[in-house]
Amino acid sequence: MTDYDAIVVGSGAGGLGAALRMSQQRVSVLLLEAAPSFGGYLNAFTRKGYSFDTGLHYLGKLAPGGSFRMLLELLEIDKEVSFIELNPDGFDRFCFPDFELRLCKGKAQYQERLLGLFPNESKPIKKFFHTIDQLLKALSDPKGPPKNILDKIGYVLRHPVLVRYFRSTYQKMINGITRNPLLQAALSAHCGNSGLPPSMASAFLCLMLLDHYFDGAYYPKGGSAAFRDAFLSGLRGHKAVLKAGAPVTRIERRGAEFCVSTKSGDQYTARAVVSNADPIITFRQLVDPALIPKPLAKKVARLRPSAGAFYAFIGTSLDLAATQLSDANIIHFDYMDVNRCFETLQERDETDPFSYYFLTSPSLKDPQSLHAPQGHHTLQIITGFGHNHPFVPWTGTRSRQRGEAYDHLKNRLGVQLVRSAERYLPGLSDHLEYVEFATPLSSEYWVNSFQGANFGLEQTPDQFGAGRFYDCTAGIEGLFLVGSGTISGGVLSCMASGVWAASQVLDFLNT
Ligand SMILES: Cc1cc2nc3c(=O)[nH]c(=O)nc-3n(C[C@H](O)[C@H](O)[C@H](O)COP(=O)(O)OP(=O)(O)OC[C@H]3O[C@@H](n4cnc5c(N)ncnc54)[C@H](O)[C@@H]3O)c2cc1C
Repeated sequence: MTDYDAIVVGSGAGGLGAALRMSQQRVSVLLLEAAPSFGGYLNAFTRKGYSFDTGLHYLGKLAPGGSFRMLLELLEIDKEVSFIELNPDGFDRFCFPDFELRLCKGKAQYQERLLGLFPNESKPIKKFFHTIDQLLKALSDPKGPPKNILDKIGYVLRHPVLVRYFRSTYQKMINGITRNPLLQAALSAHCGNSGLPPSMASAFLCLMLLDHYFDGAYYPKGGSAAFRDAFLSGLRGHKAVLKAGAPVTRIERRGAEFCVSTKSGDQYTARAVVSNADPIITFRQLVDPALIPKPLAKKVARLRPSAGAFYAFIGTSLDLAATQLSDANIIHFDYMDVNRCFETLQERDETDPFSYYFLTSPSLKDPQSLHAPQGHHTLQIITGFGHNHPFVPWTGTRSRQRGEAYDHLKNRLGVQLVRSAERYLPGLSDHLEYVEFATPLSSEYWVNSFQGANFGLEQTPDQFGAGRFYDCTAGIEGLFLVGSGTISGGVLSCMASGVWAASQVLDFLNT
């Protein structure tokens, strides 16, 4: 007799989705979270009256009938959380040296906007949107994803777009559509949401990221923690057992059951385990190596994490209403060449301005909630340096004990980042009521993401689809994976992986 039917390791969007869906269906669930509070990148933190999200700025597919909305309904938490729609006329402002382009609600409207900006480029623009349509058609094929080799052949013949672009980078795809550098910039501007430049990111993933927001962009009222709390209240309602501050150290088998050990020495048994820890962590650190079949071990040895971010979390007294900022995110590019912006970030000297960053104000998106004291605002500026970031020398050191050199470097870079953003928010440096900078090492510590990864595994063509763990399995009976190492990064994909894994756990428990 096991302690639980299923144990979920980690409480990010994937773990919460899996745990809630299983407990809804009367599966007894234990959720073990390493951090002191639940949520992973949905977690928020509060300092001096300012509340900061860590990994959620906007969500798509939340209009009635949208896939995100349907998942919330399935999980019965759609009434527990409400969403604020961001300005449909422009929720992302792509600010290039030569023009500004606003990503808006409506695929047709966005196409019109691009045609207005590039009146002589109607052929490539139409080709680009046709490619998106073809991809969506392939993804919503009524016959579902192919299950065997014959299925696969039929699927590929029905959807030639798959053959063309499945293993393509976004840049390669764009090169086949247009050679106009300004149009290339416009069509690639959203790519940073993959964590990669177009020259490296998966073409399909970037198209899916763009499509994600065509039905509008939304922000959860009360921020990401309020969204996370909806899951927790659902889980408690279904009597799931939740333990935070319980890092899992080992997943092994004892006969037909799994035994999961935590750092404090507690052990729990279950027939199924769902891991929301990064797949690299799951297989290199947690799962008993004797359980890992050779092909999986080979795959795991090749996996690469995505790069981590560098953040400024800011509480400010600046009158944001009098600035250029609104509820829209600003995505800043120093150059018309998006790849060059990323390359420059990775090669920058310490005093150079930041060539690419994402600037957003949660308190402007959600003015009725208490993100900041009255009359004040929260801001976040996010950028990155790739894998070879300046904080690598401190890898393996303990949080808050990294010493003065680390703190000084972090502050110097942070001050530069704030100064870079002053082109949109003049005087910001003089109105910093609270500021905290965070590095990939901070994410590694707080979210236990491998090397501080933003989006789980790097989202390159070879790590998309079967290159990840897209079907939430890894070839170990009873062990399932959820989160950004499965379908892709992003809250919707991670939640969906949780629901998908839960249905597979149910089948497994019933066999
Ligand atoms: C800066 C930034 C901005 C983002 N903005 C957006 C956005 O606007 N919209 C969007 O949709 N997505 C966004 N994302 C992506 C999104 O936040 C993530 O892809 C998603 O939340 C990850 O969920 P996950 O299920 O992979 O779990 P994670 O959030 O990675 O959480 C995993 C959990 O597992 C726990 N864990 C790990 N190891 C163990 C262990 N051994 N024992 C117990 N627990 C363990 C961790 O502590 C953590 O709580 C953003 C990400 C970042 C970094």
